[in-house]
Amino acid sequence: MSIKQNLDTIKQTLPDYVTLVAVSKTKPVSDLMEAYNAGQRIFGENKIQEMADKYQEMPKDIKWHMIGHVQRNKVKYMAEFVDLIHGVDSLKLLKEINKQALKHDRIINCLLQIKIAEEDSKFGMRIKDAEELLLSETVSELKNINIVGLMGMATFTDNKDQIKEEFLRLKSAFEDLKTIQTSNCNLQTISMGMSGDYKLAIECGSTMVRVGSSIFGERNYNN
Ligand SMILES: *Cc1c(COP(=O)(O)O)cnc(C)c1O
Repeated sequence: MSIKQNLDTIKQTLPDYVTLVAVSKTKPVSDLMEAYNAGQRIFGENKIQEMADKYQEMPKDIKWHMIGHVQRNKVKYMAEFVDLIHGVDSLKLLKEINKQALKHDRIINCLLQIKIAEEDSKFGMRIKDAEELLLSETVSELKNINIVGLMGMATFTDNKDQIKEEFLRLKSAFEDLKTIQTSNCNLQTISMGMSGDYKLAIECGSTMVRVGSSIFGERNYNN
């Protein structure tokens, strides 16, 4: 199936309130343009340099989402244009995003990444630490960031019950934390679900799914 057909098929299954992020990491601009020409405007990348290169080459009405782990020293390369950073997991990183956003006179939207998986390899904050961060005065003084939601990644497993449990953990954290409303914190988005599990994620309360291989095909990391 073509990229356009894949997109159309997926979009038909998504409720209106769910935002589709087309995860285009490793894929050439020609593939992204195929999705763009089919109407897709939100793209997700996990490497800042790759995203910046694609940003340069592609139409400027695209919203670029950074979905990968963010190194602080690279925030400056995306501060001018990034629309949403999914993987924010520390105060230090938030401060750097704020600093770089200020230089461009922008406000950058961020999601806090919450650790929901059993396995140790995944990044993310504990719910307790996220709560503390959202309540801290230091954060409320960061004028150039907006914390608009939470993001999580389930364990890489075929066990649907486990994935569901982890998704529900994020949903419940969201319900608790969204009661915290400050000048730059207003949680509305739950980013969870990828190609293999986005339907389950939506059943569990996701409002933003990050879908790559089901749109663009399998990734080949060898080229
Ligand atoms: C690669 C990636 C995705 C998309 O994965 P697919 O299984 O190809 O849909 C989603 N989220 C994150 C954080 C990713 O790195």
